[in-house]
Amino acid sequence: MAAIKRFPSRTARIGSVKIGGRWPIAIQSMTNTFTTDVRATVKQIKDCAALGCAIMRVAVPDQKSAAAFAAIKKLSPVPLVADIHFDHRLAIGAIEAGADKIRLNPGNIQSGSKLKEIIAAARKKHIPIRIGVNAGSTSKNLAALALEYCEFFERQKFTNLVLSLKSSSALDTLAAYAKITAQRRYPLHIGITEAGTEYYGALKSAAGLGALLSRGLGDTIRVSLTADPVKEVRAARHILKALGLAAGPEVVSCPTCGRTQIDIISLASAVEQRLQNCPKNITVAVMGCVVNGPGEAARADYGIAGGKGRGVIFAKGRRLKTVPEEHLLEELFKLIEHS
Ligand code: SF4
Repeated sequence: MAAIKRFPSRTARIGSVKIGGRWPIAIQSMTNTFTTDVRATVKQIKDCAALGCAIMRVAVPDQKSAAAFAAIKKLSPVPLVADIHFDHRLAIGAIEAGADKIRLNPGNIQSGSKLKEIIAAARKKHIPIRIGVNAGSTSKNLAALALEYCEFFERQKFTNLVLSLKSSSALDTLAAYAKITAQRRYPLHIGITEAGTEYYGALKSAAGLGALLSRGLGDTIRVSLTADPVKEVRAARHILKALGLAAGPEVVSCPTCGRTQIDIISLASAVEQRLQNCPKNITVAVMGCVVNGPGEAARADYGIAGGKGRGVIFAKGRRLKTVPEEHLLEELFKLIEHS
């Protein structure tokens, strides 16, 4: 597979996770529980982490949430980013509560003296600050606003920065990242903000993030869905995998047509389902007939090429056996699980 040449961004450390430069692209998501509900928030963080989320963001809308952040942080298996808007004191509270990074929105914290207080607190704890510009909070040009903010931080000699420039328009997001990367090399958090509900939001994110990632841009990635954050993590994993930027199993399956003589739709879904938590870096082909079937199945690590009510099982390019349709799934997984 052709490889993507990553943008040479600087490195930043978010708790135990390094991002930027040569470090793997980290999946990020955000809790949608009330931060004051420590138990529910920690559960959501753990659920996301179990699926491969490397960094979680938690909203800190008030002082009670800043206090809860400290308790959440102690129980979190992954580094936490505190999401701050409007009130600089919340940023300082979250930093004191152990935040591994804070996200500031230049659209709603602009006072130089307040920013200087945040910078002093972040500097003391050696944590990065994400300048998270969002088209929903400003009427200014995203890249111009991010640059203005960068210049302020640089004048304070604080360069432990991460940038994000998100819009709900995939094309505006692409244009903003293109402009800022012509000027700065800070690590990039990427996402299409407010992308939508589970299905359309994942597709829109795949279109926008796919374009950014294929240009080598993006050091952390979030798929913003109006859904359970676990679904964001799953979608992010699929996007990275589709571009060869993450390990894990890949299912290649035929789109079915008038030649298909076994139930490939159910079979492919069942294969995908059973591979959901598989850590192996394998390709499994589920093909309907002899046109493309043997070729794809033989190229994959494991594969099925269907016939009439039966199918041929392949492994590592070798044709192993012909199996009745109802036993194909079990026979395939016997091979995958015992290899
Ligand atoms: S692999 Fe065969 S069954 Fe599947 S779409 Fe192609 S021609 Fe049709």
